[in-house]
Amino acid sequence: MSEAQIIDGKAFAARLRERVAAAVAKIKDQHGFTPSLTVVLVGEDPASQVYVRNKGKQTEEAGMGTDTIRLDADTPEQDVLDLIEKLNNDDSVHGILVQLPVPDQIDEAKVIAAINPDKDVDGFHVVNVGRLWTGAEAPVPCTPFGCLQMLKETLGDLTGKRALVLGRSNIVGKPMAALLLAEHCTVTIAHSRTVDLAERCRESDILVAAVGRPEMVPGDWIKPGATVIDVGINRIEAPEKGTNEDGSPKMKLVGDVDFASAKQVAGHITPVPGGVGPMTIANLLRNTVIAACRQKGLEDPDL
Ligand code: NDP
Repeated sequence: MSEAQIIDGKAFAARLRERVAAAVAKIKDQHGFTPSLTVVLVGEDPASQVYVRNKGKQTEEAGMGTDTIRLDADTPEQDVLDLIEKLNNDDSVHGILVQLPVPDQIDEAKVIAAINPDKDVDGFHVVNVGRLWTGAEAPVPCTPFGCLQMLKETLGDLTGKRALVLGRSNIVGKPMAALLLAEHCTVTIAHSRTVDLAERCRESDILVAAVGRPEMVPGDWIKPGATVIDVGINRIEAPEKGTNEDGSPKMKLVGDVDFASAKQVAGHITPVPGGVGPMTIANLLRNTVIAACRQKGLEDPDL
């Protein structure tokens, strides 16, 4: 059997960002406002700093308004809630995103619940979770929506396909399952207590891995010809790349799927990096533009 075709998430994301930029230009021209995203970052988590910087950069490149509000790591919860309230009431802010994780003194659920659901461009608010599962219009969490877009563009109609989502987090696994169900897949959600996990995986035409365990899914868990979407982002030591100046080993990113063995069996597969990751921010831009249009009573742009 021939090797799997690689699903190029970078190229998908670049095309989506182009469409977003075109929609933004049209909105500015025809309606005279700029769709805008405000990101709130509490503390100095290094990974969050990188994500927030990239979000700001790509928002700006799409011609959108962007603001990052940085708060000290010891900011009291009430100050964050007050800031969200202010942003909820600011008509020039269309999307609000609080970068997770937040420091321990702040209750993540409370912060998410405080965001106006119509400005919740991450799609994490319980109202939006409910809207997603009941088939109502809602901002959809960016990462699983990116996975769905790649699946649909790769496979076309997903009706009747057996899909297995490995992982049941609120951010990836559960919304991914809701989206696949809405596309008429027969969906299994697997997790750390699933029995016969390898067998369940082998039955699946679509396998979405969102576990956070480096290269956990080997090729022989994959049904020949299946489409594999690897959400995992894991940093592991890469002795083959040599050492840093301080003698520590260089690092590399790998997914939750063992790419080398999986690509011998799958029909299509996303790489890590360059698969799901780039789609996440592109969809954040998309969600913000759509949220802005809905807040202004305009039709959704075709994105
Ligand atoms: P969570 O840690 O919140 O969830 C992990 C899920 O995997 C849980 O449901 C857990 O099961 C399940 N799990 C853990 N170990 C096993 C196991 N041995 N067998 C079966 N299931 C297992 O992670 P997230 O959903 O937030 O993220 C998953 C991965 O995706 C991470 O690598 C993360 O970095 C990446 N990610 C990538 C994004 C992107 O933009 N590409 C965005 C978001 C996440 P249980 O519920 O039983 O504990």
